[in-house]
Amino acid sequence: METTDWPVLAAIPFAVFLGMEVFAWAAPQYIMHSWGWGWHHSHHEEREGWFEKNDLYAVAFAAFAISLFVVASYGYLIVGAVATGITLYGAFHFIVHDGLVHQRGPFRHIPHKGLRQTLGAGTSAAPDGQGQGRGGSFGFR
Ligand SMILES: [Zn+2]
Repeated sequence: METTDWPVLAAIPFAVFLGMEVFAWAAPQYIMHSWGWGWHHSHHEEREGWFEKNDLYAVAFAAFAISLFVVASYGYLIVGAVATGITLYGAFHFIVHDGLVHQRGPFRHIPHKGLRQTLGAGTSAAPDGQGQGRGGSFGFR
């Protein structure tokens, strides 16, 4: 089977999606709470209006995925499959993390109270690290 056969191309976004879960675990520790703190600290403060500086991460990741789609448009189907996986994960993260956990967007009604408490446990309720305001080891924050 060639890497450009459709079953392979269809499987790649799912594999990338799972890989993004690893990235979403690692990025807060090694980027956001490290050298990327300048953008991320707004995520730990009260938000005024619709946006926070931390949203620049979403913009940067989207720009990265868009650039991959541009490359794919020149015939690199595998790159397009990777970009699809990243985009699907971005949508998933936006709905679950920003929408349900942080109550942004049109998701005002939480159908399953336990779900939000579970997903939000590491985001707002739990202390971040040992009192120094950063660090810790939560997946979603
Ligand atoms: Zn954080």
